[in-house]
Amino acid sequence: MDQFDVVVIGGGSAGSAAAARLAADGRLKVCLLEAGGANTTMAVRTPGLLGFLPKGSNWAFDTEPMAGLGGRIGYQPRGRGMGGSSSINGMVYIRGNQWDYDNWAALGCTGWAWDDVLPVFRRQEDNQRGASQFHGAGGPLHVSELISPSPVGQAFVDAASRLQLPLNDDFNGARQDGFGQYQVTQYKGERWSAARAFIDPLAGKGNLVVRTGATVERIVIEQGRATGVAVRLGNRSEVIRARGGVVLSAGAFGSPQILMLSGIGPGAHLQEHGIDVVLDKPAVGADLQDHCDYLVGYELNDLSLFGGSLRGLMKVAASFIEHRLKRTGMLTTNFAESGGFVKIRPDAPAPDVQYHFIRAIIQNHGRDRLKEHGFSLHACVLRPESRGWVRLKSPDPLAAPAINPNFLDDERDMALLRDAARLMYRIAETPPLSQLGARERNPIDYNDDQALEARIREVSDTIYHPVGTCRMGSDSAAVVDPRLKSREIEGLWVADASIMPRLVSGNTNAPSIMIGERAGEFVAAALQ
Ligand SMILES: Cc1cc2nc3c(=O)[nH]c(=O)nc-3n(C[C@H](O)[C@H](O)[C@H](O)COP(=O)(O)OP(=O)(O)OC[C@H]3O[C@@H](n4cnc5c(N)ncnc54)[C@H](O)[C@@H]3O)c2cc1C
Repeated sequence: MDQFDVVVIGGGSAGSAAAARLAADGRLKVCLLEAGGANTTMAVRTPGLLGFLPKGSNWAFDTEPMAGLGGRIGYQPRGRGMGGSSSINGMVYIRGNQWDYDNWAALGCTGWAWDDVLPVFRRQEDNQRGASQFHGAGGPLHVSELISPSPVGQAFVDAASRLQLPLNDDFNGARQDGFGQYQVTQYKGERWSAARAFIDPLAGKGNLVVRTGATVERIVIEQGRATGVAVRLGNRSEVIRARGGVVLSAGAFGSPQILMLSGIGPGAHLQEHGIDVVLDKPAVGADLQDHCDYLVGYELNDLSLFGGSLRGLMKVAASFIEHRLKRTGMLTTNFAESGGFVKIRPDAPAPDVQYHFIRAIIQNHGRDRLKEHGFSLHACVLRPESRGWVRLKSPDPLAAPAINPNFLDDERDMALLRDAARLMYRIAETPPLSQLGARERNPIDYNDDQALEARIREVSDTIYHPVGTCRMGSDSAAVVDPRLKSREIEGLWVADASIMPRLVSGNTNAPSIMIGERAGEFVAAALQ
């Protein structure tokens, strides 16, 4: 039986940062358990091969039917393997709005205000633009400019500007609102996952042991204390002991599932599945928040945009060779190249809608391969009112959990998305974007409320930012306290996107990595 000081569950965005921080001072013996593989393949490292990732690198969850989407089943990709979702994501580097973190603190999460988290973001970062009041240089997480963005993405930004919407060349700077190009978690033309940033530099250091292909079945809890982890390695199960404690970083779906499998969660629900209740905790799996995203596809015969035409495929083949030789060219794209943040409701405390320009027509989350070249425009509700849940479908640790993001359950989200969509259509109709001659696929009369609502329910789904299912708080109902520790179970911490009490106003990778690093600090301090 293996013995460690700390076992970290999940080698994703947060887990990688947490494990690295814990291992950094050499004092603690740390084990990182990851269900998937090493994720070192060329497809993972090459940004533009996003559509060709190995099947095993994605949990590819289906959701429950969602009433707000007309009973449709949604799709929730999640990274599986080292780097977790940072190995399959769109690489957009966004921290959210300063207000988000001040709001977390106001909700009782002491120590999580913007002034508390900014130093952590800066410390982790190596921004190509160098250090500033808002950015870091020399940290492990490379943040770069896109090497070869499509001019069409810039036309989108310029069209927004023609509508008097502000330009913004740094969404993580003094102001978040406005339109511009995104910075990305890439380095020299390759994806820079959390595993590359935080775990790879520790290779060969004896006090961090990384085990891939290790699916955690449950946390072992003895006399109110997390003492280890039951893990499946191939077809055998074993228990790995943790003298100091366990850090759960299995993500917004995996973490509540593992807690429930360990007897921590809504008591009656656990009993339905024949699981002994260790702690009746209704907040586990509750409060799921995600960015509901509406999208419109535009066909445009421009080979700087992706598509499955013969000429397009030939260009991708040439770009592939260019990327292998020089790490430049079209395959350095993150697809979501530009975008913007807007306050659709003037009284909102921070931008309430985010736009993404995508360098391909996206249909069915990119799973439908289209011949046509073009782009898609996306609008998502940044701080949704709707709340969903994660529950068990089965007590089998290898079964997927039941996931219901409950998109557009709250009418306020629909009203906001409608207005956000209208602004998006107006941008598309404004020069220089409108002058490119793109053809909208399946046009509707977007001024007609009914037609727009029907289309929104028909095509919207996640833009991949689920959080909140193990929320942090200072109230006794919260799953973890503001130092990410369970109040009731000794030696148990949760550290990933699931602890966010409210969804941040932006993409969630950088915040998850920041959460991981802070957890590492908290746990190391607690074990001194
Ligand atoms: C397709 C996609 C595109 C995205 N695009 C962006 C973007 O452009 N910018 C951005 O900021 N964010 C983006 N995100 C979101 C962002 O990547 C995530 O919010 C972030 O990575 C979440 O980090 P996490 O640590 O909470 O979970 P994850 O990174 O998902 O890590 C969880 C880890 O736990 C492992 N795990 C789960 N269950 C078990 C188990 N039982 N045993 C062992 N290991 C287990 C998983 O395999 C995984 O490695 C995207 C996400 C996706 C899926």
